[in-house]
Amino acid sequence: MRIAAVLHDRCQNRKCNKECVKFCPLVRTGVECITFTEKGKPLISETLCHGCGICVNKCQFDAIKIIGLADELKGEMVHQYGENSFRLYRLPVPKRGVITGILGPNGIGKTTAIKLLSGAEVPNLGRFSAPPPKDEVLEHFAGTELYDHLKNVYSGNMKVAVKPQYVDKLPQSVNGVVRDLLGRVQERMNIEEAAELFELGEVLDRELTKLSGGELQRLAMAATVMKEADIYFFDEPTSYLDIYQRVKMARIIKGLSADKQVIVIEHDLAILDYLADNVNVVYGSEGAYGVFTLARQVRTAINVYLDGYLPEENIRFRDRPIEFDSSPPRAEWNTPDLVEFDGAEKDLGGFKLTIGKGAVKIGESVGIVGPNATGKTTFVKMLAGVIKPDKGNLASVVKVSYKPQYISADAEGTVRDLLYAKAYDTVNSGFFEGEVLNPLGIKHLMDKDARTLSGGELQRVAITMCLAAEADMYLFDEPSAYLDSNQRMNAARTIRRMMEKTGRSGMIVDHDIYFLDMVSDSMMVFGGEPGHHGIGEGPFDMRDGMNKFLSAVDITFRRDADTKRPRINKSDSRLDKEQKSKGEYYYS
Ligand code: ADP
Ligand code: SF4
Repeated sequence: MRIAAVLHDRCQNRKCNKECVKFCPLVRTGVECITFTEKGKPLISETLCHGCGICVNKCQFDAIKIIGLADELKGEMVHQYGENSFRLYRLPVPKRGVITGILGPNGIGKTTAIKLLSGAEVPNLGRFSAPPPKDEVLEHFAGTELYDHLKNVYSGNMKVAVKPQYVDKLPQSVNGVVRDLLGRVQERMNIEEAAELFELGEVLDRELTKLSGGELQRLAMAATVMKEADIYFFDEPTSYLDIYQRVKMARIIKGLSADKQVIVIEHDLAILDYLADNVNVVYGSEGAYGVFTLARQVRTAINVYLDGYLPEENIRFRDRPIEFDSSPPRAEWNTPDLVEFDGAEKDLGGFKLTIGKGAVKIGESVGIVGPNATGKTTFVKMLAGVIKPDKGNLASVVKVSYKPQYISADAEGTVRDLLYAKAYDTVNSGFFEGEVLNPLGIKHLMDKDARTLSGGELQRVAITMCLAAEADMYLFDEPSAYLDSNQRMNAARTIRRMMEKTGRSGMIVDHDIYFLDMVSDSMMVFGGEPGHHGIGEGPFDMRDGMNKFLSAVDITFRRDADTKRPRINKSDSRLDKEQKSKGEYYYS
């Protein structure tokens, strides 16, 4: 079976010479294999196309995909958005008392699956021009577990609660203060109980527009968990949360599941591992198709995902496995210090920050960890010279390139315009292309209007912009947000390799442990009393840094026997107690 996909967001039909049509061998012999829609986009006939792939190669914007799929998928399509549009094969089956995770790259149908399972959209079974009515859809699923599920959803017998992905958009759709929103959903708990559980007490009377990303996430989670539902969907429940809050959120979700059904999309693999019972891996091709594989036990699912190969399906989706070292890297830095700091202090009115003695070396990537609101961003801004310390020594004489935590594209223009305006020569160099543009998948974003980028696309562009600027030090505030697991690993490698190869230094604030493990040579640890005072110490070598940080949040990791990847221990389990008594929270 062969499918053709035209990615409309990539196709720039006004800027090209219609190479797809010009070079298609069938069109040249008079067969109308490719025609054009009213909007001027190519329309490829899947019955006529013989799959030579010439149009795919000729399109300069990578807007066409012609893909051969296994014939057994033929009868399994659940949804297609339109002709030559994205199509989804199979769906995960929610189960009572079980937390089902969904793991897969961005743009592969995870959110679509949530819409179909929650009843927000009805599967069209591929009949996009004349969608079948609900009873026909049910008939299609007759005899399967999905039949019962969809029947209950359509008849209103199954109450649904959904936590959407983009919490930063919440203030645009809901007016008022936190208390108003929570007041509308007091079913499983009241406002006070929710405020306590989700640490929202201090912001109850604050306007939504004044909330941080982490506060918006906790608010969205509270408003979902407060509902009395039979099935809960959580689309990325942990972005913007620190690791302590991530683990807490995972525990809250686990606490729901005894008699409920829960489906979670989560890209922080350490958290997904801790949270989910079973995981459906999704594979496919971004914007073209996605296939849900059968549920695997969470450990196996994450292991095959990191391995890049699905044995039962015989599908390889990454060239090489992602591997972790169970011992810390040796700290052998012979390079000189780039910056040194000693006893810097800053009083911001309600918040006071103290930074200990430390130094960042040339070529070093320093991971910065710690709870939210302990001054990580303030420290980063002091290094960037945006904020001056009140006292102490913090030389912001170095030139800094900075990627802020919250990113948006307000300016008109394409990604190419933005990057060229920042650093034309760098962006055009073969080195930058090989080291940054290719691994971060920027090439086909180049001609997109920056204002139309998705969260993950915008994040990759922001990381690229930061790396393109000429600087001594590169600062990244939460670069993993909205990236899928694969993109996180690529971004971590890219940042670390760029620092090594260009002899610059990087400081990376993040909360995803797998990401931090991959990106960091050493670690700075922040603590204190969130919102009141913060203390930043280090950089320490990885072992000391992880121990210091994880002991503060009271979480230990063991190693997976097969892959050596870190796994969160159950609190008070034998291993948890043993490791705590030895003071080894991360490495054995
Ligand atoms: P994920 O959640 O895995 O990132 P999505 O389910 O959001 O993926 O999207 C899968 C694909 O379907 C993407 O290529 C997206 O552009 C496309 N898509 C999503 N919604 C629509 C829609 N309403 N019309 C056409 N295409 C859509
Ligand atoms: Fe034509 Fe199909 Fe070849 Fe594209 S892949 S050039 S549509 S025959």
